Amino acid sequence: MFTRDKLVEEFEYFLKGFRTADGTEKYRIRVSQAILENKTSIHVDYEDLLSYNADLATHLISYPDRALEAFKEAAYETMRIENPEYADRVKPVLTVRIKTLPDKIPLRGISAKQVDQMVSVGGMVVRASEVKPLVVKAAFRCPKGHINFVEQRGMVLQKPKKCEECEETKQFELDKRLSVFTDYQILRLQELPEELPPGQLPQSIDVIAAGDITNMARPGDRVIVTGIVRAEPEKAGGKHQAIFRTSLEASFIEVLGKGPDRVELSPEDIEEIKSIASQPDAYEKLIQSIAPSIYGYETEKEAILLLLAGAPQKVLPDGTTMRGDINILLVGDPGTAKSELLKYVARVAPRGRYTSGRGSTAAGLTAAVVKEKSGIMMLEAGAVVLADQGIAAIDEFDKMRPEDRSVLHEVMEQQTVSVAKGGIVATLNARTSIIAAANPIYGKYDIYKNIYENINLPVPLLTRFDLIYIMRDVPDRSKDESLARHILETRRKGHYAKEPPIPFEKLRKYLAYCKRIDPKLTPEAEEKLLQFYVEMRAESAREGTITITPRQLESLVRLAMARARVLLREYVTEEDALRAISLMKRMLSTVGIDVRSKKIDLGVLHGRPMSEKGLIDTALELIERLQGDEGVEESVLIEEMMKTGKYKTRDEAYKVLNTLRRNGQIYEVKPGRYSKLRFV
Ligand code: ADP
Ligand code: MG
Repeated sequence: MFTRDKLVEEFEYFLKGFRTADGTEKYRIRVSQAILENKTSIHVDYEDLLSYNADLATHLISYPDRALEAFKEAAYETMRIENPEYADRVKPVLTVRIKTLPDKIPLRGISAKQVDQMVSVGGMVVRASEVKPLVVKAAFRCPKGHINFVEQRGMVLQKPKKCEECEETKQFELDKRLSVFTDYQILRLQELPEELPPGQLPQSIDVIAAGDITNMARPGDRVIVTGIVRAEPEKAGGKHQAIFRTSLEASFIEVLGKGPDRVELSPEDIEEIKSIASQPDAYEKLIQSIAPSIYGYETEKEAILLLLAGAPQKVLPDGTTMRGDINILLVGDPGTAKSELLKYVARVAPRGRYTSGRGSTAAGLTAAVVKEKSGIMMLEAGAVVLADQGIAAIDEFDKMRPEDRSVLHEVMEQQTVSVAKGGIVATLNARTSIIAAANPIYGKYDIYKNIYENINLPVPLLTRFDLIYIMRDVPDRSKDESLARHILETRRKGHYAKEPPIPFEKLRKYLAYCKRIDPKLTPEAEEKLLQFYVEMRAESAREGTITITPRQLESLVRLAMARARVLLREYVTEEDALRAISLMKRMLSTVGIDVRSKKIDLGVLHGRPMSEKGLIDTALELIERLQGDEGVEESVLIEEMMKTGKYKTRDEAYKVLNTLRRNGQIYEVKPGRYSKLRFV
């Protein structure tokens, strides 16, 4: 056991005497830098301390409170040699921060054993509170006006026992002007999905950050927190309970590198990955290896393969970012393996997350500001933020919360989530690829209706998906038999009916590796894409429809780049462009067809194919003319619509009315009476 004086002395030796292999006086330099940069903390790499004095380092882990206090004293003494004035000024907030210990413990490994000891834990920040002032040195004024300073530790304000000058013991008043404050923030750290034991709910712990480590980590960040485990009695109904709640008082928060690959790859792995890619049928083999337990769906699987690889994000010199992530929507009948596919994607992707549209937390899909029991406001990250730099698989997409609907446009285009509520203003990163599944409104997909009439989704959101596929469950003798055999065989063997060419773990590694590649477009590939675009546009002009927009052109580029990545090529070839076009055509020939005009018309993604445009505008004009203050009555409106002769049947008139309502262009003033929304 070290005495306090001995501790200070030893730490001082360390700060002044530690030299790196090349002889640099690392901590002397850090101390003078702190003064230059007006910083109040000195960061110490634990490994340095360990190599310098193992006993001291071990003592620090077991008795961090007294050790850090002594370390601070030592830092103060070291700083005083350089600049006594600065040292005295920052003394109340001066901190020695310990960076990551060599042995990280899992979050769920924190127990009563570690209370008041120092640990390093990895996890993801899911909530972050606003930053509040915390008093560290409180100035108390006794009734006679004498000032008593009390150094503070922890959350409960410590008052002086008695006045040092007049022995008064009561009625102290805090003098805010003379007190010293520091920033204070609470974060909630949650276990990483990939570190979660199968079938377990993620556990979390509150992390208290004070001083210059506040606002270091944002919700969605992966971090390693080094700090002291605390246990405080749980408060319930104003009373302290015998149950204790652990938290972590952070000494240091290391925000982990933003790189997407968290999969470890050995040189042998890379060798093998390259040999897979060099086979002539590599692309087919990769497609076949996607979700091998699911029968069929080759196109969907190909699209998923490209989504898993993604295209590189591009940042222009002016800071404009161009999304590289690919978004896919699967719309379909119940029982068509949509959920199975999504869960597979979440498992195989290096940073995948599966959630339901409803979301399991207050934050739902995007983010929310929630008020804690303590009254402090916390910003909580939702699924797409937590899946930053990865893939969010969102099932039951049609059932998402109204709050999420409005924010998702931003997510899918700008790749950020902005929140401004309850004093918290923040923009969180959501560079997330989205694969979503939605169920049709009427249970089954109705091929006589357009896509926006089949699903309950905000219409402009549909255009944010690069690819949309319909998965229908249509009885078909030979297909049914093959599917049934496939399912039965899988069940019987307890294994895949057909072994995938590339096993799951290898595929995971492959996908992580291919993301490192930044392929460039070749003139030949560009030419193919351009040709396709121009031809489709010419068709638009001829037919009076929208066959393709610049959005789809961007999608084609992303898909072609992703294919080059999948094949580990630095260049996007003509063939990549052609595959991308074929995937796009497949979408255009299903969801892209306007069922009324039977032509390709991407107006259906905007809820307004060209054939309906006239019908919609006519209805809107009528409503505006007839609405008055009370709105126009439905039956009157339908009569008037029919009188124009533009609507073939009353059914069609009703449909247009429904579309208007769903698009939010009109609203019900009272049941059965409609008014047009006023735009300014
Ligand atoms: P959805 O989410 O589309 O309603 P699920 O993913 O829940 O459907 O699928 C229902 C069940 O049917 C799952 O157990 C799934 O494995 C099985 N299933 C459906 N289609 C297929 C298929 N093509 N191949 C293998 N299994 C299938
Ligand atoms: Mg489902």
